[in-house]
Amino acid sequence: MPTPLVAILATGGTIAGAATRPGDDASYVAAQFGVAQLIAAVPALAGRPLEAEQVAQLDSKDMTHAVWQQLAHRCAHHLARPEVAGVVVTHGTDTLEETAWFLHRTLAPGKPLVLTAAMRPATSIQADGPQNLLDALALAQHAGARGVLACVQGRAHGPADVRKRHGSRLDAFASGEAGPVALIEQGQVRQLRPWPVGTALGVPEARAADWPAVIVLPSHAGLATGMAQALVQAAIAQGARGLVIEGTGNGTVHSAWDGAIAAAQAAGVTVWRATRCQDGGVVGEGGLPHAQGLSAAQARVELMLDKALGGAAA
Ligand code: ASP
Repeated sequence: MPTPLVAILATGGTIAGAATRPGDDASYVAAQFGVAQLIAAVPALAGRPLEAEQVAQLDSKDMTHAVWQQLAHRCAHHLARPEVAGVVVTHGTDTLEETAWFLHRTLAPGKPLVLTAAMRPATSIQADGPQNLLDALALAQHAGARGVLACVQGRAHGPADVRKRHGSRLDAFASGEAGPVALIEQGQVRQLRPWPVGTALGVPEARAADWPAVIVLPSHAGLATGMAQALVQAAIAQGARGLVIEGTGNGTVHSAWDGAIAAAQAAGVTVWRATRCQDGGVVGEGGLPHAQGLSAAQARVELMLDKALGGAAA
């Protein structure tokens, strides 16, 4: 059987990063190499049926809704082609869990849509990008694989569970208590859990600049009521339509936020809560609505889509 065709869409990140001094894995600039160079760095990809497209070239800490909109449209385009088995997206690690959730909710693809990344720049003497790209390709070509997956260090994580848990180590990603969906070992895919499925909400059609403003505000010790009120007033003045309070523990929120939250709600702003705990999410009802196991950053995406799509998301 011929090897299935995969489209690789590049967006930048450390996987495409370059240091001025070879071997310097700390001071480098992300998003320097183009997708053709990333592919050329993996000899095992020579002759494979691949198509490559540079969708963006940025450090993912600077990810924008405009890039998400374009990326989602390009993913949808390639996934709809019968001859394409799957899509691989090269991405920065910093906001990978947000992009994964965004693509899952908007596209919920029936083919594999695999995000991959690297913790070391392409100029590192032990760059991790080439192996991650090779593993992502194996996953995208795997018969039966489907849904949005984040493939790093031989593990495929689901879009709700994936978290960047370490700021510098190679093994920076995990799925917490849920565990990875699959392992990629020597090019072979070993499925551990069901592939992620969902209902595609569609990509918001409005100009990305007009997507509803939703921001995350943290709850922490030592918060003053006046500070909380000033932050919320500023958010409302800037047009915020939603707030996600990144709470403590099981989504608990400092009482200093109470008046500010009530004022936001009175002004028509939707307020959700999440937790800064890495595992467990928020469980139980009562108090502010919450987005269960999503991180605060992912809950922001969920609330933004809910507003953009007229309540279709929640
Ligand atoms: N700042 C980089 C990015 O997210 C980090 C990385 O890719 O590892 O694009």
